[in-house]
Amino acid sequence: MSDSTSGGQVPSIGLNDGRAIPQLGFGVFQIPPEDTAAATTRALEIGYRHIDTAEMYRNERGVGEAIARSGLDRSEVFVTSKLNNGVHRPDDARRAFDDTLAALGSDYVDLFLIHWPLPGQYDGDFVSTWQTLIEFAEDGRARSIGVSNFQAHHIDRLLAETGTVPAVNQIEAHPYLTQDDLRRYDREHGISTEAWSPIAQGKVLDDPVIAKVAAASGKSPAQVVLRWHIQRGDIIFPKSVTPSRMQENFEIFDFALSDEDVAAITALNRNERTGPDPDTFNWLGPPHPRPA
Ligand code: NDP
Repeated sequence: MSDSTSGGQVPSIGLNDGRAIPQLGFGVFQIPPEDTAAATTRALEIGYRHIDTAEMYRNERGVGEAIARSGLDRSEVFVTSKLNNGVHRPDDARRAFDDTLAALGSDYVDLFLIHWPLPGQYDGDFVSTWQTLIEFAEDGRARSIGVSNFQAHHIDRLLAETGTVPAVNQIEAHPYLTQDDLRRYDREHGISTEAWSPIAQGKVLDDPVIAKVAAASGKSPAQVVLRWHIQRGDIIFPKSVTPSRMQENFEIFDFALSDEDVAAITALNRNERTGPDPDTFNWLGPPHPRPA
């Protein structure tokens, strides 16, 4: 399902809970906390209306400051954050979620995710963590809830043990890791797929197939890859601190790839991750609370 937002050409994706998310957003992973307000301000000026942050990034406060200063109504910006790895136990998760809202300066977040399933931590129990996110949805402070880095077998457990279907599954996906099986699973269960590291942190941009499509379409390699995601129906939020690239990444709705080009880019799959494997990643990170 898709339609146009009033703010521009960025389509919206309808979620399984009746809400809608802009298909293109701005990601702030690895933007230093002290630079995040300025980068987010620039993104909002360009027209981005969806920001993807996380407790782990330590920069939720900068996102909140930029939105507050922008003059936009809070309802015009879709904000996602994620529960950090060290706070999965329900009481810790409740405290951490309070801190997320305080840092964002908002009484709600549009979408809240479990950042990683951590199958080797908490006795393998990510289900009670999911149950806690369900509380946040029920009390309205998380408008939508979902998961990140969950494999199909992790989601199977959530469905069997809680019956509540995540609105999204945010996973690493790009031309070298097309994730077609997991994306199909998501689709079959009404879950929208979000593709993180959509340009593989730049690693796919020198690929000859992508360069050829870019040359033929008069677009940059990054625009071609981002457009490929859009035509596959996934939600993306490329990160850049470079204003010209932030603008470039936003200008992907005035051209279309042919079915042949989409297929040629999909055929580049090598099942190659830039990030950790969710089945073995068990890193808890620094302890809560966050630094001031
Ligand atoms: P991206 O695939 O978005 O790539 C970001 C890198 O590419 C930066 O080094 C940036 O450089 C560069 N870049 C951006 N645009 C262009 C362009 N047009 N041309 C050339 N280079 C460009 O990687 P991320 O890992 O940041 O992923 C995007 C977002 O996904 C994150 O910010 C975060 O929100 C989310 N994410 C979620 C994860 C999860 O576990 N749920 C894990 C990782 C990411 P520069 O900034 O210097 O311009």
